Amino acid sequence: MTEATGIVGEFLALKEETDADVLAMQCGDFYEFFADDAELVAAELDLKVSQKSSHGSQYPMAGVPVDDLTPYVSALVERGYRVAVADQHETADGHAREITRVVTPGTHLATGDDSAQHLAAVVRHDGGRGADGDTYGLAVADVTTGRFQVTQLDDADASAALTELYTFSPAEVLPGPDLRTDDEFLAALDERSAAAVSLHATESFEPGRARHRVREQFGAETLSSVGVADDDAAIAAAGAVLAYVEETGVGTLAAVTRLRAYGARDHVALDATTQRNLELTETMQGDSAGSLFATVDHTVTAAGGRLLKRWLQRPRRERGELVRRQRAVAALTREAMAREAIRETLGAAYDLERLAARATSGSADARDLRAIEDTLGLLAAVADAVAETERLADSPLADVLAGADREAAADLAAELDAALVEDPPGTVTQGGLFARGYDDNLDAVIEEHEAALEWLETLPDREKERTGITHLSVDRNKTDGYYIQVGKSETDQVPDDYEEIKTLKNSKRYTIPELDERERDVLRLEERRYEMEHELFEQLRERVAGHAALLQDVGRALAEVDTLASLSVHAVENDWTRPELTDDGDLDIEAGRHPVVEQTTEFVPNDLEMRPGERDFLIVTGPNMSGKSTYMRQAALITLLAQTGSFVPARAATVGLVDGIYTRVGALDELAQGRSTFMVEMQELSNILHSATEDSLIILDEVGRGTATFDGISIAWAATEYIATTVRAKTLFATHYHELTSLGESLPTVQNVHVAADETDGDVTFMRTVRDGPTNRSYGVHVADLAGVPEPVVDRSREVLDRLREDKAIEVRGGESDGADTTQAVFDLSSGQFDDGTTETDPVATDGATDPATEDVLEELQDLDVNETPPVELLAKVQEWQAQLDEDS
Ligand code: ADP
Ligand code: MG
Repeated sequence: MTEATGIVGEFLALKEETDADVLAMQCGDFYEFFADDAELVAAELDLKVSQKSSHGSQYPMAGVPVDDLTPYVSALVERGYRVAVADQHETADGHAREITRVVTPGTHLATGDDSAQHLAAVVRHDGGRGADGDTYGLAVADVTTGRFQVTQLDDADASAALTELYTFSPAEVLPGPDLRTDDEFLAALDERSAAAVSLHATESFEPGRARHRVREQFGAETLSSVGVADDDAAIAAAGAVLAYVEETGVGTLAAVTRLRAYGARDHVALDATTQRNLELTETMQGDSAGSLFATVDHTVTAAGGRLLKRWLQRPRRERGELVRRQRAVAALTREAMAREAIRETLGAAYDLERLAARATSGSADARDLRAIEDTLGLLAAVADAVAETERLADSPLADVLAGADREAAADLAAELDAALVEDPPGTVTQGGLFARGYDDNLDAVIEEHEAALEWLETLPDREKERTGITHLSVDRNKTDGYYIQVGKSETDQVPDDYEEIKTLKNSKRYTIPELDERERDVLRLEERRYEMEHELFEQLRERVAGHAALLQDVGRALAEVDTLASLSVHAVENDWTRPELTDDGDLDIEAGRHPVVEQTTEFVPNDLEMRPGERDFLIVTGPNMSGKSTYMRQAALITLLAQTGSFVPARAATVGLVDGIYTRVGALDELAQGRSTFMVEMQELSNILHSATEDSLIILDEVGRGTATFDGISIAWAATEYIATTVRAKTLFATHYHELTSLGESLPTVQNVHVAADETDGDVTFMRTVRDGPTNRSYGVHVADLAGVPEPVVDRSREVLDRLREDKAIEVRGGESDGADTTQAVFDLSSGQFDDGTTETDPVATDGATDPATEDVLEELQDLDVNETPPVELLAKVQEWQAQLDEDS
């Protein structure tokens, strides 16, 4: 292809300037996409492609009208593309085009979605000498609301940083200079999050430059006052985010008014898998209905909904903050009348945080400012309602509202109210925005303008009287300007000063000198008025933008009241209880329910009791469909709800605060959806074994299911031992490997519970009640019997089963035995027997059928010290054995 010139050449040259994925270039009344971009846009958005010939070459071309660009850009950005927009402007000799903004998934202001939209930068600095790990800095901005948060993780690894990142569900991530070449990090990011990854200029991450930028944005002292003055990695990330937002030209930097620093210890770690497994904001099928959020959400404002979602996705660890929320929820629970009145008031609120960002970016119109005024006015109404109800006035709710400056809000509201007409138009360039008395000069122009309009309006009456013509009207259009129109039958009566300008089928149009003169006046005044109003409006909008912090404060206060009221509504309607929060790790739930399942099912409540050091690992057994998964998720969700400050679905609950919730679901439900591969399952298990601490809660649902019994049981066994003896996290482990229940006898903190089932008239009924102890029989064999499987087969399976159980199968390691000479027996699949391993003979040699390769594997397995082997190595081993056995068969 020859070098493109002309319009396509200009397009391609502009495209070179940006690292955006797509360029939209204005050409008169259209934005055009050319070449590859045209093909891409056409494919994504169903646009028609035509051919543009330019100097002998053909180029694909697609376009959208200027006024329709926004929805197309939004659609592209929502699909993860970065879209550069080049506008055309007039110059002395024709026109020129330049890129004015780049819209990206993290800087997209015109989003139609109420959810938070996070842009994150993540930076890794070498931990330096003596450090266990590296230092990670994280900065997260929501340009639609101006929220900006930073944190630094010291001595951390990539998985900790990723976990932190996932809790924000970022739309776009800017990896720092070091991380952008880390393929493993990028792959993990790609796999577990929907974020677009943008490689922003490395200089912006440079510590000196970043620090300078952060100071410019937030003030010189801010870094020390929020306690991150020495956190270079956090500052580098923050600086890069600020630089990126500025460079993309969305114009909302001014809405970023405050830097919030939080410690990694403030929040409960929830990785992406756990958020999905617990169906926090969407179900496994990807629907939002049926998620925890959708179930408990009774907020009446967009900002309240956003906050509730954030609370669920980022539960807190600090008891003080949680108790504060609980007390507010409790007070609201008992003051139903006041609560409903407050919610009704809040129902009229607009999204102040978002409006603040619109004001600072210059996209707010007069209706937006009216919306700001209306909403600011609600602060007083809500605050009064709280103040008038003693129990609410004495609750933390009062402090929430005190966080917003009521007087300043009232002043700004009054200013806006005095400035704008009651119901302003949606455009800011055609006047009609300002109320009389706001600006004297404007008033003078308006008066003249309206007098001129009045003269025009009354002209027909005057002319009718003067001429005696009855079919006479005055009107205006683009080509003729103002004119007098007279019906055909009366045109012979027009006076001499009527000058004919047009003849129509049934009428004629005239003008008179006085009308020409007034027309010039009206046009002049109109232009003047529009200009003045537009200018005044921009000034007003800028003053509002100057109050961005106030708007955010008020918006956040109202959002928090809405969120707390929502929690209270759900608690009352569903008979939830206020959990007691402790630091000693207990989890004691009396008659607990699953918050989502209880909505649609006659739920059978269950108890749960876990006590660190005594009973912190529960092996959950029971037949398929008996309720194991539900029971475990219920425990995780009650803990999570308690750590958002919510009440919980139980008769009573004591919740020991956790530092993280980790889940792994290898259950058939997962596998059936093709989401789980054995490798993913093991990666997740590995992550849990590395990340969880004794303050964590782990939910393992049928781990090991993704592979053959032999591997699966070994891994499940070893993982149980490792968690129980080394990690010591509170753990619930549902398993179909009945053999694992024997661990309950030898590991002191491991206990068995089972979901009870009952048999009546040959039917198995699941009672869904959880009891201590392992399941005492196999419902699998029982069901086979019921289903009419021939008697000899059923009998024989009972026999095999009994043998499997009674032969003291695998010796437990890491429990009471102090290591030295622990024997380990091996489950031999080919004979369906366990060997206790104490015999001198080779464990499986008795069978005679075992080949040397299998023996090697068995020997290695026997010699392997599970306690001394890191989980990843263990995994590698298992894979190696598998390969060896495979080769063999
Ligand atoms: P499992 O993991 O043992 O196979 P699940 O937890 O998936 O069983 O539950 C199977 C079905 O039973 C689900 O439809 C679930 O909604 C229902 N269920 C589970 N626990 C209860 C309960 N306590 N009360 C009522 N229904 C329940
Ligand atoms: Mg299950």
